[in-house]
Amino acid sequence: MSTQKESIFEKALRRLEQSIPEYIKKIGKFQHENDDWIISDWTILPQRTYEICEVCGKEKIREVYYITSLKTNAIKKCGNICIDTITNQKIGRWFRLYQTRKKRIEDNKDAINWIAEILRAYREGGLTKLKVRTSRIGIKRLEKMLTRLCMGQNITEKQQGLVDYYTRKILRAHAEWEKRTAFAL
Ligand SMILES: [Zn+2]
Repeated sequence: MSTQKESIFEKALRRLEQSIPEYIKKIGKFQHENDDWIISDWTILPQRTYEICEVCGKEKIREVYYITSLKTNAIKKCGNICIDTITNQKIGRWFRLYQTRKKRIEDNKDAINWIAEILRAYREGGLTKLKVRTSRIGIKRLEKMLTRLCMGQNITEKQQGLVDYYTRKILRAHAEWEKRTAFAL
């Protein structure tokens, strides 16, 4: 498995996706039609397509939970309302939160990769080389922010301000560094 080229953004998405099988496992088996069932898969159908829930036979569904009978291996497609009813758990809510998180991570892709880049430059001494002054508190805040963003949370305006502050500092320092290098040549 090669995960070396994986960016922080990709890693965040992969981690989030891994939380689905973990969550499904935690739900475990449940009773339905005098039989034990488990959730075996979950998917969102493309826009404007839908199927009919096979549990109630009525509900039009785009968010599909596949449930498998442990006795017969039969598979049924089930909607987000019926899944809550038959499992007696708030499963639909978890998956809604999952989708919100996923969208946030995707929306914050640039910020995630950029903060990761700043932190990498800091660790590897690149910022010192560029003569960018950093504060331990500032770096700690960036680290915290990155963790939040990777978990699919949003950052506040104030936090965004700190990212912009470092961005400006680095860009300015980089421009000066280029000037100095060009001069030396
Ligand atoms: Zn249904």
